[in-house]
Amino acid sequence: MANIILLGPPGAGKGTQARLLVERRGMVQLSTGDMLREAKTADTPMGRRVAEVMARGQLVSDEIVIGLIEERLKAGGGAGFIFDGFPRTLAQADALARLLERIGQRLSAAIEMRVDDEALLARIVGRFSCGACGEVYHDQSHPTAVPGVCDACGSTDLRRRADDTEESLKQRMLEYYKKTSPLIGYYYALGDHYVVDGLGEIEAVAAAIAAALDSANSS
Ligand code: ADP
Repeated sequence: MANIILLGPPGAGKGTQARLLVERRGMVQLSTGDMLREAKTADTPMGRRVAEVMARGQLVSDEIVIGLIEERLKAGGGAGFIFDGFPRTLAQADALARLLERIGQRLSAAIEMRVDDEALLARIVGRFSCGACGEVYHDQSHPTAVPGVCDACGSTDLRRRADDTEESLKQRMLEYYKKTSPLIGYYYALGDHYVVDGLGEIEAVAAAIAAALDSANSS
């Protein structure tokens, strides 16, 4: 059973690749971004606080996200967990190691999806997704065949994220370089670090991730 982290700046394509791994390998995707977007729809004091922090492009507190992950880990991981958007701080990385140990598991690989920052803005400002099935689209590079209708499931519930704006992206990039990018050195030192080129075609990136996974499994 392989448990992997997909690491990379906002817009690197972590969600897209995680979905493919779920489909093709039966792994379980744990996206803290998705979990928090669910939590913030609840009209509670916590939900409102989370919504504010996310819209500004800042990080939600370690305590909240670690709690969310802990709950999901207990439910079991099929052919392995894909951590997408978590950990984002060194404290979260330590917490993850402890939580995995508690359920008798370990991390197989932290796969860094390397992309050039210039490409990120174009990718993010223009992206939208289906509220029903989660398929991700882009105004220029991957529009729906029929405007306003999801190709995959036919739903008309197409959504743009509140934080996919130029201003919020700037803050998300700052948070990434300040708090998340140190994890690259951390996992490198642990011997769990792999790099793939995140700028290629979706299938080329998927093949590179599959190769990293196979190499992690055989080591
Ligand atoms: P992206 O990777 O494109 O930035 P995500 O959906 O992973 O998007 O995250 C969106 C927002 O959710 C982040 O900007 C942050 O506010 C919050 N968030 C997600 N995961 C975490 C986490 N592990 N720790 C703290 N905040 C998080």
